[in-house]
Amino acid sequence: MIPGHFTYHRPTTLADAVALMASLGDDARPLAGGHSLIPMMKLRLAAPEHLIDLRRIAALKGVRRDGDSFVIGAMTTQHDLLASDEIAAALPILQEAARLIADPQVRYMGTVGGNVANGDPGNDMPALMMTLGASYRLESTSRVRDVAAAEFYQGAYATALEPGEILTAITVPAPPAGHGHAYEKLKRKVGDYATAAAAVVLTMSGGRVASCRIGLTNLADTPLLAEAAAQAVIGTSLDAAALTRAAAAARAIMTPAGDGRGPPDYRSHVGGIMVQRALVRAAARAK
Ligand SMILES: Cc1cc2nc3c(=O)[nH]c(=O)nc-3n(C[C@H](O)[C@H](O)[C@H](O)COP(=O)(O)OP(=O)(O)OC[C@H]3O[C@@H](n4cnc5c(N)ncnc54)[C@H](O)[C@@H]3O)c2cc1C
Repeated sequence: MIPGHFTYHRPTTLADAVALMASLGDDARPLAGGHSLIPMMKLRLAAPEHLIDLRRIAALKGVRRDGDSFVIGAMTTQHDLLASDEIAAALPILQEAARLIADPQVRYMGTVGGNVANGDPGNDMPALMMTLGASYRLESTSRVRDVAAAEFYQGAYATALEPGEILTAITVPAPPAGHGHAYEKLKRKVGDYATAAAAVVLTMSGGRVASCRIGLTNLADTPLLAEAAAQAVIGTSLDAAALTRAAAAARAIMTPAGDGRGPPDYRSHVGGIMVQRALVRAAARAK
């Protein structure tokens, strides 16, 4: 339960942080809220020689509007998201999901950037960001690039982040006014990671689904975008047959691990149910 030896760095500017990342190389890891990294270090599953604490870098915090999008600084905490009136009005699904992450103590410290950069399939924000069509800004001393959330996740704890890069912001296009949304998360107890979870953002027109995106959490090594499941409901009134087809299409891409949350068959089964519940609830909210 005691981490290995490390050197602690506390830069106050992004330029200093990326310079440290460049000079210290593979032995350095950014530290955000510490609520995934520190437990991993205590278990000796991670042993970075240098921790670069991002908490003093004011430029990485906060939410701002940029045209039709919202830019969420990587060091914005889950609590900050919950306190944001702008997020409440335009991206309520982020608040619905943040409320289901862990407990208030974790939400006060844990950051949106850390949640999406971590690469843990159990994290809730990545599937949401894929559903919303978000992109991540990655910065190093040599370049700045934007990577779509849908292209960022390569495997469990494997992401598109390259050595020396820090994820600095998440850009989320605002969904259309009147959209319906829902995040359905099955968990064993309050504060737990998902056994299975589904995010839905849709629009309705004349009683039929006009557009739809569906994301899945903890049902594979990476978060998933369930594109065939979304296609199965577009143009329908979300009748029972369409919901059955959507669940089947979503289950077809799930490859969950068997663990303390249940065997793979059970997790895929409840994953399909989460998709159906999220679709129904999102449609009921659409205007
Ligand atoms: C009891 C408990 C229950 C939890 N339950 C849930 C849950 O239900 N759902 C959920 O989603 N999460 C859950 N978490 C995890 C929590 O949300 C973490 O806060 C989150 O996974 C990581 O965010 P962080 O800011 O703490 O990052 P850290 O732990 O500081 O970092 C995580 C990883 O990301 C890297 N990193 C962090 N920031 C950046 C950046 N800006 N650029 C590049 N790399 C970066 C770090 O180097 C590290 O490898 C739980 C945690 C605990 C302790």
